[in-house]
Amino acid sequence: MHRCLGAAALVLLAACRTAPDRPGQTAAAADLVFRHGAVYTVDAARSWASAVGVRHGRIVYVGTDSLPAGLIGRGTEVVDLAGGMLLPGFQDGHVHPVESGVYLGLCDLNDAETIDALSAGIRAWAAAHPKATWVRGAGWQLPLFPAGNPSKTLLDRLVPDRPALLWAADGHSAWANSRALALAGITRETPDPPNGRIERDPSGQPSGTLRESAADLADDALPPITDAENAAGLARAESLASGFGITTMFSARTDEGHLRALAAADRAGTLTVRVVAALEVPGAGGDTLLARLRDWRTRYASPHVHPTAAKLFQDGVIESGTAALLAPYLGRGSDAGTPVRDQATLDRLAIVLDHDGFQIHVHAIGDRAIRMALDALAHARAENGPRDLRHGITHLELIDPADIPRFRALGVVANFEPLWADGDEYLTKLTEPFLGPARSRWLYPIASVVRSGAVVTGGSDWSVSSLDPLQAIEVGITHRDPGDTVTAPWHPAEQVDLPTMIALYTINAAWAHHLERETGSIEVGKLADLVVLDQNLFALPSSRIHEARVVRTLFEGRTVFQRPDSPGK
Ligand SMILES: [Zn+2]
Repeated sequence: MHRCLGAAALVLLAACRTAPDRPGQTAAAADLVFRHGAVYTVDAARSWASAVGVRHGRIVYVGTDSLPAGLIGRGTEVVDLAGGMLLPGFQDGHVHPVESGVYLGLCDLNDAETIDALSAGIRAWAAAHPKATWVRGAGWQLPLFPAGNPSKTLLDRLVPDRPALLWAADGHSAWANSRALALAGITRETPDPPNGRIERDPSGQPSGTLRESAADLADDALPPITDAENAAGLARAESLASGFGITTMFSARTDEGHLRALAAADRAGTLTVRVVAALEVPGAGGDTLLARLRDWRTRYASPHVHPTAAKLFQDGVIESGTAALLAPYLGRGSDAGTPVRDQATLDRLAIVLDHDGFQIHVHAIGDRAIRMALDALAHARAENGPRDLRHGITHLELIDPADIPRFRALGVVANFEPLWADGDEYLTKLTEPFLGPARSRWLYPIASVVRSGAVVTGGSDWSVSSLDPLQAIEVGITHRDPGDTVTAPWHPAEQVDLPTMIALYTINAAWAHHLERETGSIEVGKLADLVVLDQNLFALPSSRIHEARVVRTLFEGRTVFQRPDSPGK
């Protein structure tokens, strides 16, 4: 309830919903009026308007350019959108803002498209940071290396003087040099930890690539991220998010350092995005889990920070062979991947978290992990009765078709990363060959889940992939890389249309975030979370959606991003 309006405020909203539209009536002057725009409201009727008024952080007028008398007063800023588009602020349904922002300040390898570029990037960062005790970073792409498996030998050459640990872009593998392996105590005698794999050379020596919990072994040897680093990381994330028109984020896997940074920013009044935070639930949870989650939920809650969700990993990723599948990976014998928890443990956690009012967010990529997550949420519902917590499953790479109707039936939000459905090498080289064509048909079945009537949302999983919602919106429609007009769309049966994709990043995500009464559409009474684009997305060929530029972003009526060269400034 703390995120919803009280009953009195709702009565007030109902009263003002129609008032400014009535001819002959006068309205109080707005702080800001947009006019002559393509305003796609994303209200229930998906209605269009051309003008919007904002006062005291809320939307007070949505309608035609025949504005009510008095809406423009002496102090009103009037913006001529000149045909540009106004949308509700985007909401990212799965993202790692603080963590990714921190890594942007470390050895950031996201842009390296060849091994040479990657090597140059690592060398350059090490040279520029001679005092750093570790070379620490993230963002290398698995397909650059055979079987996604880089060697310590190469990293020893690039960083001979210090330990180096570099996370892959997907966050499920890490690349270590010999010094890092030694400091972490990872030797040929070290067994693979539960839910992890130490890749080894033919002689059994660790070869430099660590999967899942094995990567955590090395990460634990690193000095902890400081509060100052988290604060700087959050600031980087906020500034990027505002530049992409994002006004709400679902922070998946939030630790206490992240919460401290978020709470401090909100206290200082500097936060430019609203954050729903999912607190990580390790393994079986442990005896102190609930006490800790409850403590964090209370202690770090603030007007724009809602630490009300709990994140559970249930498997890894198909590319590394760590996703849990219903049938074995092709060419890997009987190996079907191993779920993080058995069903009984997952059921128990789901029942306990649901009972305590936490919104459950499960990372599940393989069809077995997804089925286990649905089963666990069904158990929680049977045990505790239906509750309005809006649990979700994220990533959803391979869904068994028999499970597709269960999302709607159980009221489970389906959170996809639509940018991943582009038919890239992760899919064509590292995924489809290990599933075969029949199972591959059910990779990222976004259209099927939408048609089933489930609530579907979109996320970036940044910094796993781009934070830019317009790229994801385009790829959800085209199923090829942004701007590509040549390649045949990958899995065309699962393409969706523009209104669907916009809903994924606005009203659907707002509902999943328990914020639909305040955000997610442009309607009188809602918070003025708005994004101005220089072009109407509906007038663009779908392959050019990513070219639309965010001109201005408003967070509760406050301008948190504005292009310097924007018209109407
Ligand atoms: Zn994630």
